[in-house]
This record gives sequence, structure tokens and C-alpha cells, in this order.
Amino acid sequence: LTGNEPVEDHQITVCVRKRPLNKKELNKKEVDVISVPTRDQMIVHEPKNKVDLTKYLENQKFRFDYAFDDSCTNEVVYKYTAKPLVQTIFEGGMATCFAYGQTGSGKTHTMGGDFQGKTQDCKKGIYAMAARDVFTYLKSPKYKPLNLIVSASFFEIYSGKVFDLLADKAKLRVLEDGKQQVQIVGLTEKVVDNVDEVLKLIHHGNAARTSGQTSANSNSSRSHAVFQIVVRSPGMHRVHGKFSLIDLAGNERGADTSSANRQTRMESAEINKSLLALKECIRALGMKGNNHLPFRVSKLTQVLRDSFIGDKSRTCMIAMISPAMSSCEHSLNTLRYADRVKEL
Ligand code: ADP
Ligand code: MG
Repeated sequence: LTGNEPVEDHQITVCVRKRPLNKKELNKKEVDVISVPTRDQMIVHEPKNKVDLTKYLENQKFRFDYAFDDSCTNEVVYKYTAKPLVQTIFEGGMATCFAYGQTGSGKTHTMGGDFQGKTQDCKKGIYAMAARDVFTYLKSPKYKPLNLIVSASFFEIYSGKVFDLLADKAKLRVLEDGKQQVQIVGLTEKVVDNVDEVLKLIHHGNAARTSGQTSANSNSSRSHAVFQIVVRSPGMHRVHGKFSLIDLAGNERGADTSSANRQTRMESAEINKSLLALKECIRALGMKGNNHLPFRVSKLTQVLRDSFIGDKSRTCMIAMISPAMSSCEHSLNTLRYADRVKEL
């Protein structure tokens, strides 16, 4: 995809993105086993041994709404994924965009930009691009008369608990009232007047998220980060629309259920549960009668509940793929999961 192809209109969009082999992988003489032959296909060329131990390649082909190869920029990925959802929130709907994949596959690069400590680093991510376009819509002749108020929040879900990334990672309670309205009590929601103010919040949250961790043992790979842009009507401040952009926990963490460490085992079970529930909730968006969805199975789906109901809700999943042969198993798992989110 070059960015010149037309953008399709779907309630659920599922796409895949392959990142390039990095320096470390190239130094280790890693082989690229992923190809993107057309604008909607991804193939895994999995090396296998026959019974007589001769080597062969098994090609496994998957089809999605879009497949981004390693030459695609964040801007192109954004155009086909989150960008069409900005309109959704102005029309009074709920929108979600998820980055899914194993640790190191490019989720944070895509959503948050390559954050190295400077506010400008955030600019190249989908969070910032979505915020930029929210202000473009806000000022457009069609939506300006609504006088909508824009605000943002940023939180993390770690081991089934919610932490406010805009308030020193304060632990927050989630309440559900009789009408099944879910509320995160005390969540910081900052009113923002321009994109620079949003960039500062993204910077702040990114910094909070990555503080006190080493890349080898990072909490961010075991937590879901949720960045939300809310537009409210003036006066009563009723929610008009909400855009949730989510950098999910590494999906390989969910499989780690045999660890000797009890804490790790519990975290893994929680991640596994939330990713399975998420898949069911997204699938159900396209169907009628979704009363029995597993919203309460995990904190992630519970706090996003209102985004999975209603005809106006739309969602997008970007499944990230590491191209290295050593990541083959994880890549196949990611592709199978994404494949199940939406049957084409
Ligand atoms: P994750 O959040 O999924 O664990 P990251 O986004 O941190 O993965 O990506 C891991 C590394 O790969 C980072 O150094 C990032 O800059 C790099 N990377 C990821 N995707 C791309 C891409 N499309 N092009 C170039 N580098 C990338
Ligand atoms: Mg990350």
C-alpha cells in the first residue's frame, strides 16, 4: 500500500503490519520469513523438516482488509486504520483502535511513536495523528456549530488493575452501576484546546509508562495502555463520542502460564483472558443481539464496554508482525488471532 489506494468503509477493520528486520536481527543473520504479495495478503514461509529430515518451506497465507509491508510509514498505516474513525466520534459514535502483537513487533512504534524522551517523538504515532485530525474536524464548518469540548485521558491496565498515567500511576477503581454503566473513578481527563496540549499529555503518559523499567524486563509488555480522546457536548458535558487507542500487552505474555513465578503466572492468565475476551467483543460488533458478551471477564473489556455496543461503534485492529524466522511461531499465532477477529 502506497497511501494512494481508496480507503474502504468497514465497521470492523482488521489489518496486519510487518516491520523491517532490525540491526540486532540482521547481525544475527536472521532471515525474513514474511512476505506481503498483495495489498491484503500476508504469507509466512515457515521452514519445516519432513520425516526424512529434508527441509522445505510451508507457506501459510492469510487475508485481511489491509496488509502493510515493511516499507509502509506510520502515516500510511494511520490513513487506513484510525483516520476513518475520527469521523465516527464526531457523528456521535464510539471508536477503538488496537495494536496487537508480540513484544518487539512494533505496537508502541505505531501507536505512540518512537518515544525517546522528547515531546516531538510522539508526533509520528497514531495517538498524535488522531489528535491532530480531531482538531481539524472540530474546526470544520460541519462540526464547529456543535461547540464540542475535547479532552484526553491516558491509563494503563496491569494485572487487572487500572493506573492513571496522567497522575503518577495512581491506582483507580472501576465501578459499574445498575445500568451497567462503567466508570473509572477519579480518572484524569484533561480538557485540551490544541494538538500541542495533547502531545504534552502523550509525552507525559509515555514517560510514566516507561519509567523504572529496563527493556529486558519491561512492565509495558505486560500491560495494556489506553489513550482516550473524548468529545463532549457543551453544557451538560454529555459524551458525544469517544476514541480509544490501545497499545495491548505482548500476546506472547498470555502464553506464559507455566512460569515458576506465581505473579508471572497470574499476569499471564489475566492477559490471556483479556485478549480472548477482546476478540469475542470485537467479533460481536458486527452481529445482532450481543447481550451475552464477556465484558466482565477482564478489566480491558469491562472499561471499553460502551465502545462495543451500539450501531455507531467502529473498531480497527492492527496486528503487528516481526519478520524474523525466530518469531515464526508468534507471528503465526498473531495472524490466526487477527484472522478470527473478522471472517472475511
Ligand atoms: P512493541 O511495542 O510491540 O513491543 P516496539 O514498538 O517497541 O514494539 O518496537 C520494537 C523496536 O522495533 C523499536 O526499536 C522500534 O523502533 C522498532 N520498530 C517497530 N516497528 C518499526 C517499523 N515499522 N519500522 C522501523 N522500526 C520499527
Ligand atoms: Mg511496546
